Amino acid sequence: MSQTPKYTKTKEFFKHNRSAGGTPTHANQYHRVPMIFLINQNNLREKGTSTSENSTQSEEDQLKTEKYNKIYRDHLIQTYQSLKFVKELRPVDLQQLRAKRVTIPRRKGYEYKKTVIFDLDETLVHCCEDSSIEPTIILPIHFITGEVIEAPICVRPYALECLKQVSKHYEVIVFTASHQSYADAVLDYLDSEREIIHHRFYRQHCVFMDGIYIKDLRIFANRKIKDMIIVDNFAHSFAYQLDNGIPIISWVDYEHDKELQGLMHYLKKLVQVDDIRETNKKVFSLRTFVEEFNRETCKNHFVFNKEDLI
Ligand SMILES: [Mg+2]
Repeated sequence: MSQTPKYTKTKEFFKHNRSAGGTPTHANQYHRVPMIFLINQNNLREKGTSTSENSTQSEEDQLKTEKYNKIYRDHLIQTYQSLKFVKELRPVDLQQLRAKRVTIPRRKGYEYKKTVIFDLDETLVHCCEDSSIEPTIILPIHFITGEVIEAPICVRPYALECLKQVSKHYEVIVFTASHQSYADAVLDYLDSEREIIHHRFYRQHCVFMDGIYIKDLRIFANRKIKDMIIVDNFAHSFAYQLDNGIPIISWVDYEHDKELQGLMHYLKKLVQVDDIRETNKKVFSLRTFVEEFNRETCKNHFVFNKEDLI
């Protein structure tokens, strides 16, 4: 008989099992990361420096704007930290990479399609550790030890719509640094028929470098790097293929979140290009992000606390 699962137990589980996949420079802090291509410099101003445009907003709208501004600022800081980590990262351990290589079958109708690889936590769903938040569903997670816990899961706005839409034009993979038992429970809930998520990869498929789980796209032996896009709230997750990455905002509980809508629009455009890296690197500039960020911060265009950037 399994014990009655408790939310606190779920929280403990995640604390012990997911920390190594977190932010490299602030392992205990939680950061949120919006998509850079939604950039709007007005969002970077400090709270309280509201513009005349803002003064005409209702109180509710102002709160919404402030919340989004905070998420946006946290995103920039998180991405900065992630990319600073990437700069120092050692080349991948080839032995480890070779051991992770997999050949994945092509579905009928998807033989020539490009591949979109979604992260799971804080990209498509969030495990609501805060018991004040109403989860979309509570899922039992069965571990090989025989232990069962219940995980309260919140599904990100537009997640299902996005997966359905994207799976019409792309092969869809979910690649998570979380444990398989947890991920499968969530993915079975999102896609019980296995129609919109074609393949699943988990923590055991990540390479573990400098204390971080990294999703190296070279593990997919029979896919071309130029045809793969990876969407992840942590930029360091795709450290070895920065040009393939979309650093989407981390999602926790922002009910007005529309990042996946923006993503659908962007992916629609990307489906036509020959090498997705060429377009993607122009949009996100992740290779030069740290230098540009430093330059702009020095010019005082962006206002951040210095300790956030260490
Ligand atoms: Mg994530």
